[in-house]
Amino acid sequence: MKNIIIFGAPGSGKGTYSAEIAERYGMGHISTGDVLRGEIKNETELGKIAKSYIDQGQLIPDELMIDILAKTYDSLPAGKGVIFDGFPRTIAQAEALKKMLEERGDELGMMIELIVSEDVLMMRLLRRAQIEGRADDNEETIRKRFAVYHSQTEPLSKWFAAEGIRHTFDWGICKTKEGMLEAIFQEIEKQNA
Ligand code: ATP
Ligand code: MG
Repeated sequence: MKNIIIFGAPGSGKGTYSAEIAERYGMGHISTGDVLRGEIKNETELGKIAKSYIDQGQLIPDELMIDILAKTYDSLPAGKGVIFDGFPRTIAQAEALKKMLEERGDELGMMIELIVSEDVLMMRLLRRAQIEGRADDNEETIRKRFAVYHSQTEPLSKWFAAEGIRHTFDWGICKTKEGMLEAIFQEIEKQNA
Protein backbone atom coordinates (compact mmCIF):
# COMPACT_ATOMS: atom_id res chain seq x y z
CA MET A 1 0.00 0.00 0.00
CA LYS A 2 1.05 3.59 -0.61
CA ASN A 3 1.84 5.63 2.51
CA ILE A 4 -0.96 7.93 3.71
CA ILE A 5 -0.70 11.26 5.46
CA ILE A 6 -3.89 12.14 7.36
CA PHE A 7 -4.22 15.90 7.60
CA GLY A 8 -6.73 18.15 9.34
CA ALA A 9 -7.44 20.48 12.26
CA PRO A 10 -7.54 19.30 15.90
CA GLY A 11 -10.67 17.18 16.32
CA SER A 12 -11.11 16.56 12.59
CA GLY A 13 -10.98 12.80 13.19
CA LYS A 14 -7.43 11.98 12.13
CA GLY A 15 -7.07 9.29 14.81
CA THR A 16 -10.49 7.74 14.17
CA TYR A 17 -10.11 7.44 10.40
CA SER A 18 -6.47 6.32 10.64
CA ALA A 19 -7.48 3.39 12.84
CA GLU A 20 -10.20 2.34 10.38
CA ILE A 21 -7.83 2.56 7.40
CA ALA A 22 -5.00 0.73 9.20
CA GLU A 23 -7.35 -2.10 10.12
CA ARG A 24 -8.90 -2.45 6.66
CA TYR A 25 -5.63 -2.47 4.70
CA GLY A 26 -3.25 -3.91 7.32
CA MET A 27 -1.08 -0.79 7.33
CA GLY A 28 1.18 0.60 10.05
CA HIS A 29 -0.12 3.63 12.00
CA ILE A 30 1.99 6.37 13.60
CA SER A 31 0.11 8.91 15.73
CA THR A 32 2.66 11.44 16.96
CA GLY A 33 0.13 12.69 19.55
CA ASP A 34 -0.19 9.16 20.98
CA VAL A 35 3.61 8.69 20.97
CA LEU A 36 4.01 11.92 22.95
CA ARG A 37 1.21 11.08 25.41
CA GLY A 38 2.89 7.69 25.98
CA GLU A 39 6.16 9.44 26.85
CA ILE A 40 4.31 11.75 29.26
CA LYS A 41 2.58 8.82 30.93
CA ASN A 42 5.92 7.03 31.39
CA GLU A 43 7.43 10.25 32.79
CA THR A 44 10.45 10.15 30.43
CA GLU A 45 12.74 13.13 29.75
CA LEU A 46 11.08 13.51 26.36
CA GLY A 47 7.67 13.35 28.04
CA LYS A 48 8.55 16.24 30.34
CA ILE A 49 9.58 18.40 27.40
CA ALA A 50 6.51 17.39 25.36
CA LYS A 51 4.11 18.17 28.21
CA SER A 52 5.32 21.73 28.51
CA TYR A 53 4.37 22.38 24.86
CA ILE A 54 1.19 20.30 24.65
CA ASP A 55 -0.36 21.89 27.75
CA GLN A 56 0.14 25.30 26.10
CA GLY A 57 -1.42 24.18 22.83
CA GLN A 58 1.95 24.71 21.10
CA LEU A 59 3.84 22.43 18.72
CA ILE A 60 6.86 20.42 19.85
CA PRO A 61 10.02 21.83 18.12
CA ASP A 62 10.61 20.42 14.63
CA GLU A 63 14.07 18.88 15.20
CA LEU A 64 12.82 16.90 18.18
CA MET A 65 9.65 15.81 16.39
CA ILE A 66 11.48 14.73 13.22
CA ASP A 67 13.83 12.61 15.31
CA ILE A 68 10.91 10.91 17.12
CA LEU A 69 9.13 10.29 13.83
CA ALA A 70 12.15 8.63 12.16
CA LYS A 71 12.70 6.35 15.18
CA THR A 72 9.05 5.32 15.25
CA TYR A 73 8.97 4.75 11.49
CA ASP A 74 12.07 2.53 11.59
CA SER A 75 10.53 0.40 14.34
CA LEU A 76 7.58 -0.61 12.10
CA PRO A 77 7.64 -3.61 9.73
CA ALA A 78 8.61 -2.49 6.21
CA GLY A 79 6.56 -2.89 3.05
CA LYS A 80 2.99 -2.60 4.32
CA GLY A 81 2.55 1.15 4.01
CA VAL A 82 2.28 3.58 6.93
CA ILE A 83 -0.40 6.07 7.96
CA PHE A 84 1.07 9.29 9.35
CA ASP A 85 -1.46 10.77 11.78
CA GLY A 86 -0.59 14.21 13.18
CA PHE A 87 2.68 14.51 11.23
CA PRO A 88 3.77 16.64 9.41
CA ARG A 89 2.40 19.79 11.05
CA THR A 90 4.89 22.31 9.58
CA ILE A 91 6.54 22.80 6.20
CA ALA A 92 9.91 21.83 7.75
CA GLN A 93 8.40 18.55 8.99
CA ALA A 94 6.93 17.84 5.55
CA GLU A 95 10.29 18.44 3.83
CA ALA A 96 11.99 16.21 6.42
CA LEU A 97 9.41 13.45 5.96
CA LYS A 98 9.85 13.50 2.19
CA LYS A 99 13.64 13.32 2.57
CA MET A 100 13.48 10.55 5.18
CA LEU A 101 11.23 8.42 2.96
CA GLU A 102 13.38 9.04 -0.12
CA GLU A 103 16.49 7.97 1.80
CA ARG A 104 14.71 4.69 2.47
CA GLY A 105 13.63 4.21 -1.16
CA ASP A 106 10.05 5.11 -0.27
CA GLU A 107 7.74 8.03 -1.06
CA LEU A 108 5.03 10.21 0.53
CA GLY A 109 2.18 8.34 -1.16
CA MET A 110 -1.11 10.19 -0.74
CA MET A 111 -2.41 12.93 1.54
CA ILE A 112 -5.97 12.85 2.87
CA GLU A 113 -7.32 16.15 4.16
CA LEU A 114 -10.33 16.14 6.49
CA ILE A 115 -12.32 19.37 6.20
CA VAL A 116 -14.56 20.17 9.19
CA SER A 117 -16.00 23.54 10.26
CA GLU A 118 -14.66 25.11 13.46
CA ASP A 119 -17.95 24.97 15.39
CA VAL A 120 -18.20 21.21 14.79
CA LEU A 121 -14.54 20.81 15.81
CA MET A 122 -15.09 22.71 19.06
CA MET A 123 -18.17 20.63 19.91
CA ARG A 124 -16.32 17.36 19.28
CA LEU A 125 -13.26 18.37 21.31
CA LEU A 126 -15.34 19.51 24.29
CA ARG A 127 -17.22 16.21 24.18
CA ARG A 128 -13.91 14.31 23.95
CA ALA A 129 -12.70 16.25 27.01
CA GLN A 130 -15.51 14.73 29.05
CA ILE A 131 -14.83 11.19 27.79
CA GLU A 132 -11.01 11.03 27.60
CA GLY A 133 -10.02 13.82 29.97
CA ARG A 134 -7.12 15.07 27.81
CA ALA A 135 -5.47 18.05 29.53
CA ASP A 136 -5.27 20.04 26.28
CA ASP A 137 -9.00 19.61 25.49
CA ASN A 138 -10.25 22.70 27.34
CA GLU A 139 -11.75 25.66 25.53
CA GLU A 140 -8.81 28.02 26.07
CA THR A 141 -6.17 25.52 24.88
CA ILE A 142 -8.38 24.38 21.99
CA ARG A 143 -8.54 28.02 20.76
CA LYS A 144 -4.73 28.19 20.88
CA ARG A 145 -4.46 24.89 18.96
CA PHE A 146 -6.80 26.26 16.28
CA ALA A 147 -4.64 29.38 15.98
CA VAL A 148 -1.46 27.30 15.73
CA TYR A 149 -3.17 25.10 13.15
CA HIS A 150 -4.12 28.10 10.99
CA SER A 151 -0.72 29.77 11.18
CA GLN A 152 1.68 26.80 11.04
CA THR A 153 -0.11 23.72 9.72
CA GLU A 154 -2.83 24.80 7.28
CA PRO A 155 -0.32 26.30 4.77
CA LEU A 156 0.92 22.73 4.29
CA SER A 157 -2.30 21.86 2.50
CA LYS A 158 -1.00 23.81 -0.53
CA TRP A 159 2.40 22.16 -0.19
CA PHE A 160 0.73 18.75 -0.63
CA ALA A 161 -1.36 20.06 -3.51
CA ALA A 162 1.86 21.17 -5.22
CA GLU A 163 3.23 17.64 -4.71
CA GLY A 164 0.12 16.49 -6.58
CA ILE A 165 -1.04 14.13 -3.82
CA ARG A 166 -3.77 16.05 -1.93
CA HIS A 167 -7.26 14.51 -1.67
CA THR A 168 -9.88 16.42 0.32
CA PHE A 169 -12.95 15.05 2.12
CA ASP A 170 -15.55 17.46 3.43
CA TRP A 171 -17.64 16.60 6.49
CA GLY A 172 -20.25 19.12 5.33
CA ILE A 173 -20.75 17.05 2.18
CA CYS A 174 -20.30 13.47 3.48
CA LYS A 175 -22.29 14.24 6.67
CA THR A 176 -21.65 10.91 8.45
CA LYS A 177 -18.60 8.95 9.53
CA GLU A 178 -19.71 6.07 7.28
CA GLY A 179 -20.06 8.44 4.32
CA MET A 180 -16.59 9.89 4.91
CA LEU A 181 -15.07 6.42 5.27
CA GLU A 182 -16.71 5.15 2.09
CA ALA A 183 -15.33 8.10 0.08
CA ILE A 184 -11.88 7.71 1.63
CA PHE A 185 -11.70 3.95 1.00
CA GLN A 186 -12.71 4.48 -2.63
CA GLU A 187 -9.93 7.02 -3.16
CA ILE A 188 -7.33 4.82 -1.46
CA GLU A 189 -8.26 1.91 -3.69
CA LYS A 190 -8.14 4.10 -6.79
CA GLN A 191 -4.67 5.35 -5.86
CA ASN A 192 -3.41 1.81 -5.25
CA ALA A 193 -4.99 0.26 -8.37
P1 ATP B 1 -6.96 14.85 16.39
O1 ATP B 1 -8.03 15.18 17.35
O2 ATP B 1 -7.42 15.09 14.95
O3 ATP B 1 -6.42 13.48 16.57
P2 ATP B 1 -5.18 16.77 17.76
O4 ATP B 1 -4.55 17.94 17.11
O5 ATP B 1 -6.26 17.06 18.73
O6 ATP B 1 -5.71 15.86 16.59
P3 ATP B 1 -2.77 15.19 18.43
O7 ATP B 1 -2.42 14.96 17.01
O8 ATP B 1 -2.94 14.03 19.31
O9 ATP B 1 -4.14 15.97 18.61
O10 ATP B 1 -1.65 16.20 19.03
C1 ATP B 1 -1.70 16.67 20.35
C2 ATP B 1 -0.56 17.64 20.61
O11 ATP B 1 0.71 16.96 20.46
C3 ATP B 1 -0.44 18.82 19.66
O12 ATP B 1 -1.27 19.91 20.04
C4 ATP B 1 1.06 19.17 19.75
O13 ATP B 1 1.35 19.89 20.92
C5 ATP B 1 1.71 17.80 19.89
N1 ATP B 1 2.09 17.25 18.55
C6 ATP B 1 1.57 16.14 17.97
N2 ATP B 1 2.11 15.93 16.75
C7 ATP B 1 3.00 16.94 16.56
C8 ATP B 1 3.88 17.31 15.49
N3 ATP B 1 3.93 16.62 14.34
N4 ATP B 1 4.65 18.43 15.65
C9 ATP B 1 4.60 19.15 16.76
N5 ATP B 1 3.79 18.87 17.80
C10 ATP B 1 3.00 17.78 17.71
MG1 MG C 1 -5.11 12.33 17.38
